[in-house]
Amino acid sequence: MLSVEQGTDFVRSDSAFFCRSAKLQLAECGFQANTCRLQLRLLRIQRQTTRYATPEVGSCFTHCFPALTGEGFLVGSAGVATIQTVCVYCSSSERLDRHFREAARLLGRELARRELGLVYGGGSVGLMGEVAREAQAGGARVTGVIPEFMKERELAYEAADELIITDTMRERKQRMEELADAFLVLPGGFGTLEEVIEIITLKQLERHAKPIVFLNQAGFYDPLFAFFERLFDGKFARESYRALYHAAEQVEEALSYLEKYREPEPGEPWFRVS
Ligand code: AMP
Repeated sequence: MLSVEQGTDFVRSDSAFFCRSAKLQLAECGFQANTCRLQLRLLRIQRQTTRYATPEVGSCFTHCFPALTGEGFLVGSAGVATIQTVCVYCSSSERLDRHFREAARLLGRELARRELGLVYGGGSVGLMGEVAREAQAGGARVTGVIPEFMKERELAYEAADELIITDTMRERKQRMEELADAFLVLPGGFGTLEEVIEIITLKQLERHAKPIVFLNQAGFYDPLFAFFERLFDGKFARESYRALYHAAEQVEEALSYLEKYREPEPGEPWFRVS
């Protein structure tokens, strides 16, 4: 009989697929693991996760699941599934009111203060640049993900701790998603909307279960939420899908939501028909 210590996470490199429990994860790999009732997140192999891996967890993992420890599998963080890296979607515009830029800078400082890493679009323009520079100045690890053809247009932030260059926009979004444990949406334009709607729909389809929060600064996203209500009212979307995302008015509130977020129990969450 296989068992796993409470609080152990797995990392699987070849998938961005979210799996709710060890049982599912192991069943997928051909294991009988009825004793496992462990909430797991599947994280990509990445620097941040190896940093948190411990020898104890590693040996437990190797002992219990030798077949999973070959190439492509790695042990991730142990303990409660706390977030380490936040993906920020936000405006690339240089023409925004001062209070939007100030909120982006506050977010950068708060990420650093809470020892959270930043993953973002890799530009130095608009709110993207504000949050990245401030986060890095405070000591946060900053990872930018930018397509080659956007490097000039969005003035790639070469000073980032890591600048990942992709071929396409799609690849950019995928890398950002894989590298992050949570998503925070600052005010933004079409690009930001495109990114957040995709991450919500992927959660709706249970491709991930990471927290998503909008910074609804001065009601910026109220019209979007009003439109979402039309979707619920008209039964274009299930009422339970409201739980896919959260809105916060303050930066601190938004980050606290992400940090306190706990993945729903299997069978419970937004997937329920209503
Ligand atoms: P915007 O909100 O329009 O200022 O864009 C915010 C960010 O989203 C910018 O870094 C854009 O390059 C990015 N973006 C725009 N469209 C897409 C897309 N289809 N896929 C990925 N990123 C995008």
